[in-house]
Amino acid sequence: MSAPATLPRVVIVGAGFGGLWVAKALANAAVEVVVIDRQNYHLFQPLLYQVATAGLSPADIAAPIRPRSAGASCLPSSGRRTRPTRPSAGA
Ligand SMILES: Cc1cc2nc3c(=O)[nH]c(=O)nc-3n(C[C@H](O)[C@H](O)[C@H](O)COP(=O)(O)OP(=O)(O)OC[C@H]3O[C@@H](n4cnc5c(N)ncnc54)[C@H](O)[C@@H]3O)c2cc1C
Repeated sequence: MSAPATLPRVVIVGAGFGGLWVAKALANAAVEVVVIDRQNYHLFQPLLYQVATAGLSPADIAAPIRPRSAGASCLPSSGRRTRPTRPSAGA
């Protein structure tokens, strides 16, 4: 029996509009997708003013990231530094 193939891993830092869009676009691609965000929720910023004016509660514009990430793995973490696990070709 052959060993399972390892998929390339795509790491998306930030589960805002951009990050979630990328995760959705890659949902059916042959890659492993990991979404990292310092918060465990997606904030729908266009409705922030309604929270500020008490028209909505904060929970109305914040949704957990995991169900919105199109099957990607989700990690709560701050992406302040990146360190490659393998040296680059020129190193
Ligand atoms: C009040 C308000 C009203 C708006 N109204 C509209 C509108 O009507 N129409 C419109 O098109 N746009 C609107 N926008 C703009 C729109 O919200 C932004 O353009 C959009 O959210 C940007 O998406 P993004 O994915 O680049 O960043 P964001 O949505 O800001 O997402 C960034 C994500 O990255 C995470 N993150 C940041 N730094 C780190 C780190 N170091 N480590 C881990 N995670 C990190 C954050 O927690 C966040 O989840 C509005 C914005 C605001 C503030």
